[in-house]
Amino acid sequence: MQGPSSSGTEAEKPLVVVAGRSNVGKSSIVRCLTGKKVRVGKKPGSTRREFLLDLGPLTLVDMPGFGHAERLSKVAIEASKRRTVASLETWGKRIAVAILVVDVSLFKDLTDRWEARGEIPIDIEFYSFLSEICREVIIVANKSDKLDKRNFSEAIEYLQSKMAAAEPERRPSIVVTSSRNKTGIDELKTRIEQALSTQGFAKPAW
Ligand code: GDP
Repeated sequence: MQGPSSSGTEAEKPLVVVAGRSNVGKSSIVRCLTGKKVRVGKKPGSTRREFLLDLGPLTLVDMPGFGHAERLSKVAIEASKRRTVASLETWGKRIAVAILVVDVSLFKDLTDRWEARGEIPIDIEFYSFLSEICREVIIVANKSDKLDKRNFSEAIEYLQSKMAAAEPERRPSIVVTSSRNKTGIDELKTRIEQALSTQGFAKPAW
């Protein structure tokens, strides 16, 4: 597999990166978007390299997960975070759109737990980081099929309010999906295309 920093014209293509904690459904989302089989259901936190897909005028990058907060040690989580941050910083301006996938069925519990410990939840920290390096950030609220109907709106509003509070300068762009039930995928494609077109980039060849 070639890294995006390798030489040749491929290296100049803008990137759409898909990032998020391990096991939130990044590979499943990429598969729904492109029909391409990327490895799904790997062991949580297992290390892997980024996975690149050629989408014509741009390249889609399925990033390695940055640690599974439930199962990995703090040291391992930090190391995986550092690796992800280093790759993203290297690509820098080539990143046209950053997609942050979160598991919306776990987001509130995880956030409450981290905040009770006085720590910044990793999903929120990453949203801030991506917002710093990239003009267009789309938050994918995945695994929405796991939400109870009664808690559905509350869970989405909670995500919206936490992300808005983290980055008051921008309105969070959230797409609710279930890669299991294939819902929200068309809206996500449209949102990505809009984010690309505002920067003068052509539509991806899904
Ligand atoms: P990644 O580590 O973030 O790339 O996550 P994967 O795409 O490998 O998915 C991790 C696990 O979550 C797999 O067992 C998937 O089948 C499951 N999964 C992914 N998306 C969804 C979803 O929308 N709903 C449900 N219920 N499970 C999902």
